[in-house]
Amino acid sequence: MQCYKHHDRAAVGVCRGCGKGLCAEGCAEDLGFGLSCGGECSIRIGHIEALNHKAGAAYTAGRRYLWSAPLLIAIMGGVFLYSAWVEYQSGRDYWFTGTFGLLWLLAALAVFLRNRTWARAIR
Ligand SMILES: [Zn+2]
Ligand SMILES: [Zn+2]
Repeated sequence: MQCYKHHDRAAVGVCRGCGKGLCAEGCAEDLGFGLSCGGECSIRIGHIEALNHKAGAAYTAGRRYLWSAPLLIAIMGGVFLYSAWVEYQSGRDYWFTGTFGLLWLLAALAVFLRNRTWARAIR
């Protein structure tokens, strides 16, 4: 590929904004994360890069949520199961508390599985 401006020079890369071939002598502007032909394209590429960073941040937050919500529900379930264990130890009726604890654990699993599908979908 040749430079879009200097047809006698070989392009060292293409502009990430418009895809034009750029030579090393004065045309290619290195932005650190890609080449630009300069001006408007540099601004546009900067915007795209900022959006990519935001999408990455949203993805990381999604990953964190994938674990935190089911974990909180599972902890609730654990608290109920512990109460059931204490009731069992003291000879009281523990079925209601125990069943409730198991339901919380099942809910945690359901939320985790749903979040995992959702996390896969946005990948
Ligand atoms: Zn360009
Ligand atoms: Zn050039």
